[in-house]
Amino acid sequence: MISREEIKGFLTDYKKIAIATICSHSALQIFFGARQEGFKTLGICKPDARKVYDSFQLAKPDEYLMVEDYSQVLDEKFQEKLREKNAIIVPHGSFVEYVGPKNIEEKFLVPMFGNRRVLEWEGDRHKEKRWLQHANLEIPREFAPDEMDRLCIVKFHGAKGGKNFFLASSKEEFEKKTRDGDKNSAFIQEYVVGLRYYPHYFYSPVLNRVEFLGIDRRDESNIDSLNRLGLTREEIERLGSYVVTGNIPLVVRESLLPQLIEMGQKTVKSSLELFPPGMIGPFCLETICRDDLKFVTFEISARIVAGTNLYPMGSPYSCYLFGEPMSAGRRVSREIQLAKEKNELEKVIY
Ligand code: AMP
Repeated sequence: MISREEIKGFLTDYKKIAIATICSHSALQIFFGARQEGFKTLGICKPDARKVYDSFQLAKPDEYLMVEDYSQVLDEKFQEKLREKNAIIVPHGSFVEYVGPKNIEEKFLVPMFGNRRVLEWEGDRHKEKRWLQHANLEIPREFAPDEMDRLCIVKFHGAKGGKNFFLASSKEEFEKKTRDGDKNSAFIQEYVVGLRYYPHYFYSPVLNRVEFLGIDRRDESNIDSLNRLGLTREEIERLGSYVVTGNIPLVVRESLLPQLIEMGQKTVKSSLELFPPGMIGPFCLETICRDDLKFVTFEISARIVAGTNLYPMGSPYSCYLFGEPMSAGRRVSREIQLAKEKNELEKVIY
C-alpha cells in the first residue's frame, strides 16, 4: 500500500494544482466544477470519448492526455507527467474500475482526492458489511443456500452494475439457477421490498461536517419496465435484470430527512473509527425504504456517483447549503480550494 507520507511528499512540490480524471462517468461535472473553482483541468481520454467532451465547451478539460488504453495511466512516465502537471486525481467509478483498486493502492503514485484506504473497505464485501454494521445501519440479511426461507436476490462478487443478478426463494431454486462455476462467488441477500433511494453525501474534514447533497434513483434495465407487460412473478423473476442505464432525480418527504441525514453522519463516524482519516469527500448509500418507513442499506459507493450528474447546477438540497450552484464535482474542487487556503491539503489528499 502506497503510504500517505509518500503522497504528501509529491504535494510539497505542487505549485498550481490541476484537477484530473478519466473522461468518463462524472467527468463532465468534475471538470465543469473545477473550472468554476478556478482550477485548470486535465482529461485522460481515449479517442472515442473525446467527441463527448468536445461537445460541451464549458465542461471539456483544458488539456487532454490521450491514451489508447486506461491501463497506460499506470506507466511510470505517465504518472510522472501527471505529477509534473501538478495533477490531483478525482477518482470516479470508471477510474476505479479501469485502473483497478489494487493498482491504485499499490502502483499509482499520484495525489488523489480522498482516502485511498476506502477502496479496500468498499471493494471487500465483508469489510463493507463491517463498516455499515459498525455505523449501526440496518442492512439486508444474508443467507447460506440451505438457510433460504424468503425471497432473496443472488449477487456475484465483482459483478458490475447488477449483471446476472437473479431472484430465488429456496436452495433448490438457487441450485437450479446458478451455474456450477459461479456457486462459490454467489452472495445471497434478503430481497428487501420497498422503494430505492440513493442519497448523496459529502464529508468535509476541512469544515468538519457531513453534507447532504441530493438523492437519485437508478433506472435499471429491464426490471424497471417489466411491469408494463403485466407479467406473473415467475416471469418477472426469469426476465428481470438489474443493469443501471440512467438516473432519476428525487426528493423525499421531509419527515424522512432526519433518518437519511443521520445515516450519512453515522457512516462517516464509523469510517473514522475503522480506517482513519475515513470517508473523505463524496459517497452514496444505496438504500431501500420499506413500508414501515425505515431505510435498509444494501451497499455503499465510496466516491462520487453517477447519480450526482443530475445536479450540475446544484440539487434541491445543496441549494440550502451553498448560496450558489454546487454540484458534487464542484464540491470536490471547493474542498481542495478550502484546504489549500488553510494549508491543510494533506487532510483531503491521499
Ligand atoms: P447493486 O449492484 O448491489 O447496487 O444492486 C443492483 C440492483 O439490484 C439494485 O439497484 C436494486 O435494484 C437491486 N437490489 C440489490 N440488492 C437488493 C436487495 N437486498 N433487495 C432488493 N433489491 C436489491
